Amino acid sequence: MVDNALSPHGGVLVERVASPEEAARMIHGLPRLPVREQIARECVNIAYGFFSPLVGFMGQADVDSVVRDMTLSSGYVWSIPIVLDVSGERLASVGVSVGDTVLLTHQEQPLAVLQVEEIFSYDKEFMAGQVYGTTDLAHPGVLRTHSLEDSFVAGPVTLVNPPLINPPFDEFWKTPRQLRKIFAQRGWTRVVAHQSRNVPHSGHEWLMKGAYLAAEADGILVSAVVGEKKLGDYIDEAIVLGHNRLREGGFFREDVHQTSTLLWDMRYAGPREAVFHALVRKNLGCTHHMFGRDHAGVGDYYETYAAHNIFDELPDLGIKSVLTLEWWYCPVCAGVAYEGLCGHRDQKQDLSGTFIRSIIQGGTEPEPLTLRAEVLEITGQCAEKYGFGSPFVTDAYLENRTPVMSLAAMDCTCCCET
Ligand SMILES: [Zn+2]
Repeated sequence: MVDNALSPHGGVLVERVASPEEAARMIHGLPRLPVREQIARECVNIAYGFFSPLVGFMGQADVDSVVRDMTLSSGYVWSIPIVLDVSGERLASVGVSVGDTVLLTHQEQPLAVLQVEEIFSYDKEFMAGQVYGTTDLAHPGVLRTHSLEDSFVAGPVTLVNPPLINPPFDEFWKTPRQLRKIFAQRGWTRVVAHQSRNVPHSGHEWLMKGAYLAAEADGILVSAVVGEKKLGDYIDEAIVLGHNRLREGGFFREDVHQTSTLLWDMRYAGPREAVFHALVRKNLGCTHHMFGRDHAGVGDYYETYAAHNIFDELPDLGIKSVLTLEWWYCPVCAGVAYEGLCGHRDQKQDLSGTFIRSIIQGGTEPEPLTLRAEVLEITGQCAEKYGFGSPFVTDAYLENRTPVMSLAAMDCTCCCET
């Protein structure tokens, strides 16, 4: 047993992917239930073990236990309900009942087979209040919960049509098994995860460097969240390629840095989402996870370091939280300086999203101490190649981008298709 065969959450890495032969047999004659992007991403995550120990969409006992106590009914810590919501109308039209097996489809292609163990409803207001600490509909996670259909269909999921990950993401999307293999090949036994939804500026670069030192790590895993986008977000391509360029540019050595993607729709659940992020990255093989200010937060709903402090109240999760204060540009220190060290707080230049966006939008030559020229360059290239002229999400991008994930048409040897 190698040192870095770090145990996934629950002890066993879940893998539920049918072989092509099995898949063709499994889908024969099944009723089809189409699912939206979010659910499709979650099917993929369940099937490849990103969500170990989950083997499917949660039943009522698990949902209730997660909502109330942040644990699965098996006792393992889990913070975000993973549910498949379906309208009553749809259930009736597809004819889904408990005990059935249904084919979940996406992009009009087979995706996964679901064994229906339970169909139930749950108090969405209560769920939102517990998970998000608020029932304010201005909170995007609360709104998402509120918008769920009324019936939850639960049961194990088996992937029958592995997704095709389109360029440029194909190079970066790795399953937990694949990432664990990469870590083992490099001899990484202490890996610190960096969650990103941004084109990295120098503050992010130093945050990673600081956490690498603090964790005495062998490697840094950038885990870029790729999921539902809203107008004004950085386009996914720029986030992923921007991080990768930091390694290509030598700001991180080849052997200490890996960029990857996680298909996930942010819930903005602050501390609860931090726990979820830690568990998923534990499944990827990480031993540490960095948490900066207001991790996975939105507005003023959470305390600045709530996402770090929540770990003090939980049992040992097998992945450690690394607290990272802010990094800013300090003209007196003449460099990027750490909040915990620099005594010139009143003269700092925040490396805020707004400030960096002004550089990117202006197309001006940045200070190497705020945004690397290499990162600015690739961001511009991504804007042209993928962003319809913009590094930020626009209507044109939402409507016309190449999806991150596509599903191939499945040959049906049994000819049940019409
Ligand atoms: Zn200073």
